[in-house]
Amino acid sequence: MKVYIETYGCQMNEYDSEIVRGILREKAYALVDSAEEADIILLNTCSVRDNADRKVIARVHALRHLNGGAHKKIGLIGCMPTSHRQGLIADGKLPIDFIAGPDSYRRLPSLIEKSIESSDKAFDIRLSRSETYSGVHPFRSGGVNGWIAVMRGCNNFCTFCVVPYTRGRERSRSVDDVVTEARELAAQGCKQITVLGQNVNSYQHDGHDFAYLLDKISEIDGVQRIRFTSPHPKDFPTSLLRVVAENPKVCKHIHLPLQAGNSRVLDLMHRTYDKEDYLALVDKIKRFFPAMVLTTDIIVGFPTETEKEFEDTVDVMQRVEFDSAFIFKYSERKGTLAAKRFPDDVSAVKKTERIVRLNELQKEISLAKNRAHIGQVHAVLIESLRTKKSSSDMQGRTDGNKLVILPRGDAGIGDFVQVRITDASAHVLKGRALST
Ligand code: SF4
Repeated sequence: MKVYIETYGCQMNEYDSEIVRGILREKAYALVDSAEEADIILLNTCSVRDNADRKVIARVHALRHLNGGAHKKIGLIGCMPTSHRQGLIADGKLPIDFIAGPDSYRRLPSLIEKSIESSDKAFDIRLSRSETYSGVHPFRSGGVNGWIAVMRGCNNFCTFCVVPYTRGRERSRSVDDVVTEARELAAQGCKQITVLGQNVNSYQHDGHDFAYLLDKISEIDGVQRIRFTSPHPKDFPTSLLRVVAENPKVCKHIHLPLQAGNSRVLDLMHRTYDKEDYLALVDKIKRFFPAMVLTTDIIVGFPTETEKEFEDTVDVMQRVEFDSAFIFKYSERKGTLAAKRFPDDVSAVKKTERIVRLNELQKEISLAKNRAHIGQVHAVLIESLRTKKSSSDMQGRTDGNKLVILPRGDAGIGDFVQVRITDASAHVLKGRALST
């Protein structure tokens, strides 16, 4: 049987698709690159925002209209099965054959068989307190970048977020298990490892914390850069800041989700820090490493957020000067505490005004921060021998995760090139290689 997997959402879903590929290959399923060729189509879904759900629903209908689409088995995996469980199982309108939640992938082969044998919708959406997919070999397409999920789930229950409901409680893999996987990646030629988790810096196993884990991964020959995402501001002890600042293999980039700048709104969001705590953490990070690249996530228009409270978000952005920011309008997610407790009462117009204002501000800050790199030399890890616009340029990333475009030279994918930065926009640096 031929299987095609399409992945939506975050890097965790990309990694989970690699896990699913590994499990299905073990059971002799063939992996194919297009829905047209496949007997079975899996959509690895995301439920973080409403438009992610809508995209998948539209895609399912489109797949059914493919040539032969009526006879293909279509399954949803990932977050939608656990966030919309009742609706998806009972709803005859969405033409799917089976659903499996993020902790059910080991049982996916039998679920697929069940759906082949019976026309009833098959489902397995049990969340686990222990599943970490230890011992499963993710099937990767190779390359210089590799992902490893070191913990799964989340215990924080931020009031706007579905993750604790779709992915269950926190659990971490053992250090040995993670290090073994990282060694395998390095042996396959991977230079940069991104350590993943819904709340990655709350990693905890057998008394070992996240700082210890990063140090252990950095001891592996061949691993040259280590990134991590997504951390929570509450889990940055001094020991972790020290490892990020001092371990040369750990990239000098911290993604530090702010969500809102106002302390009352942060409290309603149940973020467990206030404006002052957040700014104090940023100061501490900059004391450890003044040039640390900081990026963030922000939600505008959380229920009851006033104009004056929104100004606190503007204030934090101006004070921190993030290198970049992902800014979203609040979108109510069914089943979350915010949806139950607070009316979505900030108008669409207000949300748009606020997001436009923050995006403009961030663009100015990003441009100024990027332009400050002109004249500097950065080690760039080459990731592609072309860019979106040109095959005579190549691109890679700095330690701080800035995208750099440079004329194509002798360097290949996976090489580190010393690049002098000659120009910058808000989104990209341009430069010339000094050596390969
Ligand atoms: S920390 Fe908050 S936003 Fe992040 S996954 Fe957990 S509940 Fe969601």
